Amino acid sequence: MAGKDNLTAVLYGINDIRLEQRPIPTIKDDDVLLEMGAVGICGSDVHYLTKGRIGNFIVEKPMIIGHEASGTVVSVGKNVKHLQKGDRVAIEPGYSCRKCNYCKEGRYNLCPDMIFCATPPVDGNLMRYYAHPADFCFKLPDNVTLEEGAMLEPLSVGVHGCKRANIKVGSRVLVLGAGPIGLVTLLSAKAFGASKVIITDISSKRLELAKQLGADHTILVNKGDSDEDLIKKIVDSLGCEPDVSMDCSGAEQSVRVAIKATRSGGVALLIGMGAAEMTLPLCNALVREVDIRGVFRYVNCYPTALELIATGKVNVRPLVTHHYKIEETEKAFQTAMTPEMNAIKVMIHANANWKA
Ligand code: NAD
Ligand code: ZN
Repeated sequence: MAGKDNLTAVLYGINDIRLEQRPIPTIKDDDVLLEMGAVGICGSDVHYLTKGRIGNFIVEKPMIIGHEASGTVVSVGKNVKHLQKGDRVAIEPGYSCRKCNYCKEGRYNLCPDMIFCATPPVDGNLMRYYAHPADFCFKLPDNVTLEEGAMLEPLSVGVHGCKRANIKVGSRVLVLGAGPIGLVTLLSAKAFGASKVIITDISSKRLELAKQLGADHTILVNKGDSDEDLIKKIVDSLGCEPDVSMDCSGAEQSVRVAIKATRSGGVALLIGMGAAEMTLPLCNALVREVDIRGVFRYVNCYPTALELIATGKVNVRPLVTHHYKIEETEKAFQTAMTPEMNAIKVMIHANANWKA
């Protein structure tokens, strides 16, 4: 395919994203070559664009951006059995060594040798053609769109959160933060059987969408609200203390409230990535045996997330608020980072034939 257009979005540094031609990748025996479909913009992509780093991950050389993605198989390596040309797939963006103890015990998200798209120095996949290991590509049934395929990435975070927190039929759940991750966590919790989900945010717009997506109660957090004010509102609306609280904001107060509001013996789950260090009521958790658990991305969650979408148990379509062509990447990022645009998920379409 020499000479073919492979327009690619490359992050050169802070507020410096450029479109350029890259060679179409050659595939190894276990890979597939994909014509890219939809690529969602994630908070982390925006963070790398505006700050150049997240913690110790620093953009030190030009990096292709994008990791919430789907595509169509163009060719397959000789070892690939489960996919063929023309299959549409969701791309799980991180692949692990498959050899270490974490990988062997089924917690490959903890693999120290994880290769994860658009986490420096690893390139992402906002480009027309991209190669990926076939075992981290999931074939989409006909009733699932390429956009929904891209949405499997954030949805998998919500699914992993529900598995980690052991959400089950009848669970009463508190979600803190109604951004894309809080919303997919809400949708997942409902699909896992939660009988009631209450969600908080500082933005009433986001809470409106949460309500449309099935939140039983919403709580607007105002500046100056004390932890106790919030906990009282939560318990009054829910009728009880939550069995599980899932922080999806990273805000210190939310994490505190997640711990304090949870019933004794329940689970406080940390999904939001906030400050590296926080002041938290750990004794409160200790004396009431509230388990504080972390969530890092997802592991073996794409198949579950795909089933939820394919069977209609979860509808992620209302989360997709904006669409752009890859040629409009800069504008797409502007939309994602301008609060007045009220974006939840901005989709970039990499396929040259895509039409709005
Ligand atoms: P986002 O910034 O769009 O959403 C955060 C939401 O929290 C916003 O709607 C914001 O208004 C709300 N918020 C802020 N302060 C609050 C407060 N005091 N109380 C209640 N709500 C408050 O980001 P997102 O894309 O939805 O991601 C959410 C968090 O999850 C981020 O910290 C992100 O880094 C993290 N994340 C973690 C993982 C993981 O593997 N653990 C994966 C993806 C994202
Ligand atoms: Zn490994």
